[in-house]
Amino acid sequence: MKTKFDYKGIRSEFPFLSRKVNQKPIIYLDSAASSQKPQNVIDQLVKTYSQSYSNIHRGLHTLSEEATNSYEEVRLKIARFINAYSKEEIIFTSGATMSINLIANSYGLSKLKPNDEIIITVAEHHANIIPWQMLCEKTGAKLIAVPVDKDGSFHISALKQRITKNTRIISVPHVSNVLGTVFPIKEISQIAHENKAICVVDGCQGVTHMPVDIQDLNCDFYVFSGHKLYGPSGIGVCWGRAEILADMPPFLGGGDMIDNVEIDSSTFAIPPSRFEAGTPPIAECIALGAAVDFVTKIGMKNIENHEKSVLSYGHQRLASVKGLSFVGTSPNKSGVISFTLKSAHPHDISTLIDQDGVAIRAGHHCAQPLMKFLNLNSTARASVAIYTEPEDFDALAISLEKVNRIFGA
Ligand code: PLP
Repeated sequence: MKTKFDYKGIRSEFPFLSRKVNQKPIIYLDSAASSQKPQNVIDQLVKTYSQSYSNIHRGLHTLSEEATNSYEEVRLKIARFINAYSKEEIIFTSGATMSINLIANSYGLSKLKPNDEIIITVAEHHANIIPWQMLCEKTGAKLIAVPVDKDGSFHISALKQRITKNTRIISVPHVSNVLGTVFPIKEISQIAHENKAICVVDGCQGVTHMPVDIQDLNCDFYVFSGHKLYGPSGIGVCWGRAEILADMPPFLGGGDMIDNVEIDSSTFAIPPSRFEAGTPPIAECIALGAAVDFVTKIGMKNIENHEKSVLSYGHQRLASVKGLSFVGTSPNKSGVISFTLKSAHPHDISTLIDQDGVAIRAGHHCAQPLMKFLNLNSTARASVAIYTEPEDFDALAISLEKVNRIFGA
């Protein structure tokens, strides 16, 4: 099977592909958990640490100025990448989890009152559940989850039914990390705004797979993690509308987020600095810039098309495996194929196929409420990236057939 896109050349930019696992060439189908890194990202990390490393925003010497400039250039790069209105809307965090905690603790804590309502969906990663639960405990607000269909489809009507005059925040995934469902963010944002609520988007599994234009999506916050976008771990993004950020109090206090400090009280910097307390992961942020260069050079549309074609082949190929059921078959899907096998538990599947060098994820995928909603305790999940090729799904299918034979299916 051929995809139109020349991914072979791109594969050569990923050094991990030359490694073997259990004497077999690696088949990495766990990019939704964390993606592998291209050479330019690895090189950038090494270059920063070996030549241009220093703390940022405080030194007046050459290395500090170089590191500061490179760090701030990434802010601009990210702003352009997601079409933010300005680079000041880009806040660097340690990842999506920290970004949502920032929104909940800063925006949420300062705005919400008892009986206000926060709407999420049953398909959330725990990162888009727990910070809101904690916020509800502190404020007396209520957390409400919109169901999805059994096939994983999301219907706007289900959201509309749950909106009340008390709805303040609607926080949804761009793409479900279990079902692959792509959520209709534009429509959700519009409904949020019509009801004087804000729309927060967990973009962890969105920004990695498709072009993201936050002006078009018209949401109020969009968050993601660098490590899923071919960048390093420890760095992530919280994009927020300038006018909302301007009105938000700090969440974490310390260096770099201040204006003037007295022993009794302090004033704080304007965004984004207000929300970037302490020394950030400097080299990781600069390498995230290299990751954005990498995907920009390929083109997010090309990445989306390649992955769609691989995913479609994956569905077709896995459908031939005896006893395999897909979990999440909504028409608009991206990134992942979750499944169960009649013969074996997902943990056993994952352990066994690792013998063939095939890496998938098995478990609840940090989405326990969704598992309960689907009446499952776990699934196996194969996920794709730009380096995934159709043959990876041939290898997975062959390996799963072996599992069937071992378990006597
Ligand atoms: N949201 C989604 C949809 C995810 O898939 C993940 C990670 O798997 C997260 C949030 C949390 O990301 P991180 O652990 O990088 O903060």
